[in-house]
Amino acid sequence: MINLDELDPDQRVAATAPRGPVCILAGAGTGKTRTITYRIAHLIDSGFVGQHRVLAVTFTSRAAGEMRDRLASMGIGAVQARTFHAAALRQLRYFWPQVAGDLPWTLIDNKFPLVGRAARSIGVDSTKENVRDLLSEIEWAKASLITADDYAEKISGTDRTPPMDPAKVAEVYRRYEQSKTSSEGMALDFDDLLLHVAGALENAPAVAEEFRSQYRSFVVDEYQDVTPLQQRVLNAWLGDRDDLTVVGDANQTIYSFTGASPQYLLNFSRTYDNATVVKLQRDYRSTPQITGLANTVIGQAKGRIAGTRLELRGMRDNGPEPSFASYDDEPTEAREVAGRILTLLNQGVPASEIAVLYRINAQSQVFEQALADAGIVYQVRGGEGFFERPEIQQAIRELTRATRRDDLPDDPVQIARAAFVPLGLSATEPEGAQARERWQSLNALVELVEEIVRTAEGIDLPGVLKDLRRRAESKQPPTVEGVTLASLHAAKGLEWDAVFLVGLVDNTLPISHAIKAGDSQIEEERRLFYVGITRAREHLHLSYALARQEGGRKTRSRSRFLDGIAPETAAEGPKSRRARPKRCRECGKPLNSPADKVLGRHESCPSAADNEVFEALRAWRAEEAREQGVPAYVVFSDATLMAIAEALPGNDNELLDVSGIGPVKVERYGADVLGVLYPFR
Ligand code: ATP
Ligand code: MG
Repeated sequence: MINLDELDPDQRVAATAPRGPVCILAGAGTGKTRTITYRIAHLIDSGFVGQHRVLAVTFTSRAAGEMRDRLASMGIGAVQARTFHAAALRQLRYFWPQVAGDLPWTLIDNKFPLVGRAARSIGVDSTKENVRDLLSEIEWAKASLITADDYAEKISGTDRTPPMDPAKVAEVYRRYEQSKTSSEGMALDFDDLLLHVAGALENAPAVAEEFRSQYRSFVVDEYQDVTPLQQRVLNAWLGDRDDLTVVGDANQTIYSFTGASPQYLLNFSRTYDNATVVKLQRDYRSTPQITGLANTVIGQAKGRIAGTRLELRGMRDNGPEPSFASYDDEPTEAREVAGRILTLLNQGVPASEIAVLYRINAQSQVFEQALADAGIVYQVRGGEGFFERPEIQQAIRELTRATRRDDLPDDPVQIARAAFVPLGLSATEPEGAQARERWQSLNALVELVEEIVRTAEGIDLPGVLKDLRRRAESKQPPTVEGVTLASLHAAKGLEWDAVFLVGLVDNTLPISHAIKAGDSQIEEERRLFYVGITRAREHLHLSYALARQEGGRKTRSRSRFLDGIAPETAAEGPKSRRARPKRCRECGKPLNSPADKVLGRHESCPSAADNEVFEALRAWRAEEAREQGVPAYVVFSDATLMAIAEALPGNDNELLDVSGIGPVKVERYGADVLGVLYPFR
């Protein structure tokens, strides 16, 4: 049934090891996930264990889904592949009557009101930010098996910064826990599910016996990110048995902030002295050019985890060198990335094999816009699309409400800033993770409003709203497989032919709060960078922008992780386009629409361009679009063609100077366009 020839000799050792503890400690792309699916198949195939007796756990539901698909295709679809939470939920539903009789319980889907009430009850301001921070802190404590009573003492021994006075956090935590039990029954949060499963197995022998006769073999993928709470559940599942296979890569530990720890992976052979330990070094995912870069990046890591460094050996044929580019501003970066994606699509790379990865979800907006403008279908993973985020929808509702008032200033930017303050847009970026993410989305929305106002002078609030709605609607329907936009965290375990790592500036990667917190958190950011690089099979483009907005001040510096990796000079990268003209070349009056700005004059002002040149360019464009099977505007917009016709460039550099033309366009169409223009010069 299974073909072990599809594994290399090291992988085969792990897959065919006898029942008992197995640990695969290996780098990215070395076939860990592949090996455990084969191991499960092999155990079943050789009659060691029945399909229904295996439980495989992963950390995201997407990864669990992929694992189920792979197992089903090997004819062993009855194997359970779930996240820790999903497995615990199922088990608790089944065992609850045995441990708690008919005491009713419910799963809490929103902890917010409970934590808010607990905060208020001790006089802590229950602002959204405070409550969100408290919530994440309580989640971290529970995942770390730290109780409310121990919290204040334990936190002082970590490098974690509590969101407020630890005694207050502890008290809110205590009251939150108490508030979940009432005469009507119990309310359980996600972490309680795990705690109760562990508790039931630890304390109720009948439950433990029934469970352990049901499940015999356990497999954990991405084991470097297990939390103490999840480990406790795993121990409870096992009892005194040792039929456990774990795989992981300490260099990909990226969830420490939630309490995850690679120590269980690194100590596995000490916990089980009879363990089969396998190290895999051959990387089957990426080209040697990509594994080379990945090795350099992780080679600069400091600290204990780095001590377990594994050198990746790229097994694939040589591919293109990873490319680096610096852009003047984010919209330019996004447009150039979209341009490169178009090139890949034209070369036959499927959209589903291309990903744009960033550090925080708020970065997606500008890329969503650029992809939509270029007519590229995309999906945002591991987070909603920008316009679907609750805070953005709420913010747009607030703006709509503001249009009905007549006591507000004229400036839509001012109105937006004021309207978003109660939603969480404080003057400075807040501390807690959730509050920060919300703040960043709202801030991105204000910047979008600023951009709309800048390009359409004199536009009023209803006009801005109309534009925002148009942008929200231009997002492609989720039914077609498109280019993936995802945060680095959500990309764990996945792979694509082409990966764009964008926004690589200090304070974004590494993120500002990690820089503030110090070395250990900066190292986690470096691992996140490593995870990003190792998602790519063949094409890898790394980029950053020196300013946030078009024409903005270049206050940013590229990520420190690029030092010694991206050549200083190459980091200058292709130059972005000139600043767009603000006044009409013909009549001298201000320009309003984006099309006019590309043109450099009002559309209605007579042009110096030779109509014949314009028509020749249009004919070429129609031909080109037909060949590529794309709409004509994807090649060049009318405004850009007109601008070319007027400028009559004679070489690549002059062409680059035409507003609306970047290096990608020059590379693709430069020779053609110059050829069309030649007879007219
Ligand atoms: P990560 O650390 O990113 O989770 P991983 O170690 O789990 O990576 P896999 O996803 O299992 O790696 O494998 C990476 C790629 O290499 C997959 O496309 C897989 O099919 C392929 N691969 C793994 N082993 C082999 C092999 N022996 N021969 C050919 N291809 C392989
Ligand atoms: Mg994997």
